[in-house]
Amino acid sequence: MTHLIINPRSGSGLKRSALAEFRAAMQAQGRSMIEYRTTGPADATRYAASVRDEADLIVSWGGDGTAREIASGLVGSSVPLLACPVGTENLLAKELRIPAHPQRLAEIVAGGCTVECDLGIVNGQDFLLIMGIGFDGEVVRRLATVRRGHITHLSYFWPIWRTFWEHDYPRLRIIADGEEVFDDFGMAFVGNISRYAVGLRICRDADYNDGLLDLVVFSCQEQTALVLHAAWALLRRHPLKGNVIYRQFRHVRIETDRPTVSQADGDVGPDCPLDISVHPGKLRLLVPPPRVTHGLWPWRGELPL
Ligand SMILES: [Mg+2]
Repeated sequence: MTHLIINPRSGSGLKRSALAEFRAAMQAQGRSMIEYRTTGPADATRYAASVRDEADLIVSWGGDGTAREIASGLVGSSVPLLACPVGTENLLAKELRIPAHPQRLAEIVAGGCTVECDLGIVNGQDFLLIMGIGFDGEVVRRLATVRRGHITHLSYFWPIWRTFWEHDYPRLRIIADGEEVFDDFGMAFVGNISRYAVGLRICRDADYNDGLLDLVVFSCQEQTALVLHAAWALLRRHPLKGNVIYRQFRHVRIETDRPTVSQADGDVGPDCPLDISVHPGKLRLLVPPPRVTHGLWPWRGELPL
């Protein structure tokens, strides 16, 4: 049986009628679904955990936060998760090339394939995509204090603007797999996937199935340095040298010299110090079948979205 977990608070990614179209497409395939609507935090985790022994497939109708909650309830089981792009960013769906089209989502249910995916743990709490320590933790914290209902990209404008001028960059001491790799002022990201908000690829080499998490640290103490880092990231040509470090690890500890907030998958995360590691279990994800490459550009491999 397929279980459809709907987060009624998300909804800027796909238009309202998309859910009805998806239901109809599934019905046309002769598949019936049990629907569940979340009403609060961790609802999706509890529900997914309660049906993981009987479900054939769980479909997440929400954003990255909903997918992360479901993943928490499914990790280590063989039940695949299809993450539909119904939220604001939909980083997971983008990374997996899952289209924002109800008919094509139903086609993935019928003919997709499964891949395994790592999950991260920060201070005992799961995260699926990427977390930020320092600057963007502060942005997400500011946004969370004013958030009502679902958010758009515009909702981030004032929190980013105010954080940009007011943020006090913490001194970070970072120990990755037992080795001190950074001890300076700055901001850090830990990624399971390469994508970050608005199409930036911060953890550009991240592979969600290699059993490792990727760490990027930008050395930064003032606004001008941040602008330069952001410009490089926008150009997707960030030089991984000098005041940027890039590491892959199984466990990292991040300590700070002052109270510092983090964000995990776009939600407010735990305060520093942080212990971040890779979850021993894997998650199964349903993804579109591999693309057929047409011999024209055989050396280019798969095109980025
Ligand atoms: Mg990885």
